[in-house]
Amino acid sequence: LRRNAGETEFHQAVEEVLESLGAVVAKHPEYIDNALIERICEPERQIIFRVPWVDDKGQIQINRGFRVQFNSALGPYKGGLRFHPSVNVGIIKFLGFEQTFKNALTGLPIGGGKGGSDFNPRGRSDGEIMRFCQSLMTELYRHLGEYTDVPAGDIGVGAREIGYLFGQYKRLTNRYEAGVLTGKGLIYGGSRARTEATGYGAVYFIDQMMKTKGESLEGKRVVVSGSGNVAIYAIEKVNAFGGKVVACSDSSGFIVDEAGIDLELLKEIKLSRRERISDYPCLKGGSACFSEQGSMWEVPCDVAVPSATQNELNGSDAAALIRNGVVAVGEGANMPCTPEAVRLFQAAGILFGPAKAANAGGVATSALEMQQNASRDSWTFEETEARLEMIMRRIHDSCAETAESYGAPGNYVLGANITGFVRVAEAMQAMGVI
Ligand code: NDP
Repeated sequence: LRRNAGETEFHQAVEEVLESLGAVVAKHPEYIDNALIERICEPERQIIFRVPWVDDKGQIQINRGFRVQFNSALGPYKGGLRFHPSVNVGIIKFLGFEQTFKNALTGLPIGGGKGGSDFNPRGRSDGEIMRFCQSLMTELYRHLGEYTDVPAGDIGVGAREIGYLFGQYKRLTNRYEAGVLTGKGLIYGGSRARTEATGYGAVYFIDQMMKTKGESLEGKRVVVSGSGNVAIYAIEKVNAFGGKVVACSDSSGFIVDEAGIDLELLKEIKLSRRERISDYPCLKGGSACFSEQGSMWEVPCDVAVPSATQNELNGSDAAALIRNGVVAVGEGANMPCTPEAVRLFQAAGILFGPAKAANAGGVATSALEMQQNASRDSWTFEETEARLEMIMRRIHDSCAETAESYGAPGNYVLGANITGFVRVAEAMQAMGVI
């Protein structure tokens, strides 16, 4: 705690994993003797740097850039870049720590890392975004490489930003190293289904959890928070499974549309125009409404998919969901439910899919993008999505089996933490004191 003072989210993420490990260390005392827990909690490398850039008025702006290379026991560091004013070292460390176990769960050869900046992209012109990305990469490039560290997108970083980052990497290194970034545009080495992967994957995971209770998404009312990359494609896949999404949000508030969210309109507002979700009701008409106040988790639903940001769903939100009869919750975002909310869901016997497992589809498909780049190949959408679905159902099953074997059937938090931890710990053991 002293070494990581003030890093609240990092402490929260570490505590959540350590709480699951009692039975594991009883079975593997060598993990204690070899200080594996301490080593896994300490990032291999943290890079913090200045990002100077010039805005459209000719003024110099300074932001702070981060890359935390958490663990490379299973492969090159892999994890997104986040551009949001709330970014600080504690948030990037929590994300990198989680990423390490999530990536291990995919069964693919990728280590864990995360990065980003406190840059706020909201209201910035295309030119400003490009200059910012170029400046960030001017420092970051020396720490990256297809065998070293492979970033992707996250909050505030989508295909446009990845394009600017890749272009600058290519200029600086004079190498067309397609495998150095994932989430690239299709025309220059991206993978089909990567954009959709996190949202689709979360819904596959939820579907697989529901199957264990003989349930499905068909005819279910669903609430999805956020309206970014993860949320939009989670909504798309819920619709494909016959569910109806009645509410979603952005950082200014939430909308409720009892007729079911009009996904094409939502994409138009959020992806094409990059506008606010508050525009939805007047463009849609009918009974759709926007609320700035209150909690969207009060909207009755059978399934909840928090897909915006960390700690967005607290104990009282969880209590409201339970009161209204929620049967399944799948975390599309990273750590969106507070520890109290998770405890309440578990105590009420709600199917709860933690982020590490439920949102691993994005990074899994990033690893598939790396495979395609390495073999200079490009797969069809159907082939890539079929692999994504198989990976998500396999992640579900391995978490369920681990939970069962540790005497906690249905506890996906325990299952995910133990499965991910053991895979990383075993690889580190094999490599000596690293
Ligand atoms: P986007 O930037 O595309 O969308 C984020 C959405 O969440 C937006 O609707 C945004 O609203 C909202 N949001 C962001 N911050 C806040 C906040 N502090 N309070 C309320 N709402 C907020 O990001 P993604 O969809 O890519 O990421 C969402 C979550 O999923 C993150 O936790 C991310 O780490 C996680 N994730 C993403 C993956 C990916 O492949 N993209 C992979 C795995 C996890 P607004 O538009 O108003 O800013």
